[in-house]
Amino acid sequence: LGGTNLRIAAYAQEKGLLETLNLTTRRSVGRNAVIVDLIEAVQALRKTFGSTYSFAGVGVAAPGPMELPEGRLLDPPNLPGWENFPLRSELERALGIDVQVENDANVAALAECLLGQGQVLGVDSLCMITLGTGVGSGIVLRGSIWHGMNGMAGESGHVSVDYNGDLCPCGTRGCLELYASATGLVRMAEEMIAQEESFGLASLHTTSGGLSSGSLFELGRAGDPDAQKIFRRMGVALGRALAGLVNALNLPLYVLGGGVAAAWPLFAQWMFDELAYGSSLYRLTDPLHPPASIAAKAKTHVLPARLGACLLPFTASHWQRSGAKNDTMISANGRVAEDA
Ligand SMILES: [Zn+2]
Repeated sequence: LGGTNLRIAAYAQEKGLLETLNLTTRRSVGRNAVIVDLIEAVQALRKTFGSTYSFAGVGVAAPGPMELPEGRLLDPPNLPGWENFPLRSELERALGIDVQVENDANVAALAECLLGQGQVLGVDSLCMITLGTGVGSGIVLRGSIWHGMNGMAGESGHVSVDYNGDLCPCGTRGCLELYASATGLVRMAEEMIAQEESFGLASLHTTSGGLSSGSLFELGRAGDPDAQKIFRRMGVALGRALAGLVNALNLPLYVLGGGVAAAWPLFAQWMFDELAYGSSLYRLTDPLHPPASIAAKAKTHVLPARLGACLLPFTASHWQRSGAKNDTMISANGRVAEDA
């Protein structure tokens, strides 16, 4: 259950993925319509596979913050009108089966750890930042999700990277989400159009798809300096947030996923520069630019996610940090996860 997409999959332990239904989250119609869509989709899959398999339960990944294990959404900024909604108990009542609710970024982090970059690097702990409609994050320690005391751990999207920055709907100024989400990218572009009369950015209003994170990316890739400035701000914001995470957690791996992570070629260099500037711990463990004399043996890896659908077709070369040596740091298939 995402702010943009509603995806429902049937999964059997012995067979794996059986079928996936992709729907759009009818956010503007309201919560009840979305819940009905979700329930009907689950029931349709139950009908299809009910004669072959027994229905064991439902797992829902939803945007936070939420209280766990109760599965009550608290105040999800990308699902307005869902405040205090008891998602788990409402679904259990409607479906008559055990339902588990988990934060979407936590589930993405666990998947990356077990089947994605964590598996590639051979590590069992990581932090994943998801860049979609909003920005979320999940922490996996020794193979298990770190929930914090009540399931609210990993709200890195609302870590401030600029106290003098714009006001976030959460009440803080300069949150990472304002600069590194799809909504944030469009917001920055609208601001520049209003202030600087950027011809290149303004022209996106008249293109077929309109002004979106995807059209901004295309414009930036085509060389537009204003679009590139926006991805630079995104990279700097990510680098600052990562510097705090790296210093606090000292994990071997940080993964960036979600549809907006596909803009990696435009923001990664700024992100790595800011990360190296802001974290001495990163500089000591930088896998690509180790300090000459006192480099630590253990390395801090920052990589795009391996799992999930990719919004933009990239080859592996797109993931390389410029000036970096070409080595196993780079995701083999260069695919990134889409917004949950
Ligand atoms: Zn915020």
